[in-house]
Amino acid sequence: EHFNIVSIAEEVIDQMESKAEDKNLTVRFDSAYETPIFVHADADRIYRVLTNLVSNAIKYTLEGGVQIGFEVKSEKVLVYVKDTGVGIPPEHLTRIFERFFRVEKSRSKEMGGTGLGLAIVKHILEAHNTKVSVISTVGKGSTFSFKLPIGQSAEEMEEELEEERLELESLGEDNR
Ligand code: ATP
Ligand code: MG
Repeated sequence: EHFNIVSIAEEVIDQMESKAEDKNLTVRFDSAYETPIFVHADADRIYRVLTNLVSNAIKYTLEGGVQIGFEVKSEKVLVYVKDTGVGIPPEHLTRIFERFFRVEKSRSKEMGGTGLGLAIVKHILEAHNTKVSVISTVGKGSTFSFKLPIGQSAEEMEEELEEERLELESLGEDNR
């Protein structure tokens, strides 16, 4: 399945905005992405991944905000969700992807949640033959990222079909 990851991210931003506004946080693109970035993945499941990451970013951020960004490198795009939140202690960085694991049970309890969000993220990305990475500094914030294969854009597909059509036509003419 081919889809534009920028517009999926836009939907996620629209959906999460009010939650962020309640906390006086902003949710934005890291920069303007004028052209679509077509990826080869399951749109519904990647939507779920982004929703989980952005909802965590909002939940564990007290001030500042959340940024979604993309880095295109040849065949892949790196998608990241960056926050200015509480951060994650280094000793917990691998455990947060385990089911039901939550940093500081007592504080997390007030926030609500079951500790499944990141386990789901990990599972979905593994099913896409990719993985989620995290960099975090306590008191400064966290960045979660993952890579997806870039697919053809609609225009590129269109162009290729047109080329094929022309080729077939000229073959037909040769045989006359
Ligand atoms: P659920 O997602 O099921 O509602 P949850 O958010 O607690 O609950 P996960 O999304 O799996 O569970 O996250 C696991 C734990 O990792 C969280 O409880 C939190 O301690 C920590 N965590 C996740 N994302 C962030 C983040 N962006 N900043 C700081 N800590 C985070
Ligand atoms: Mg969560």
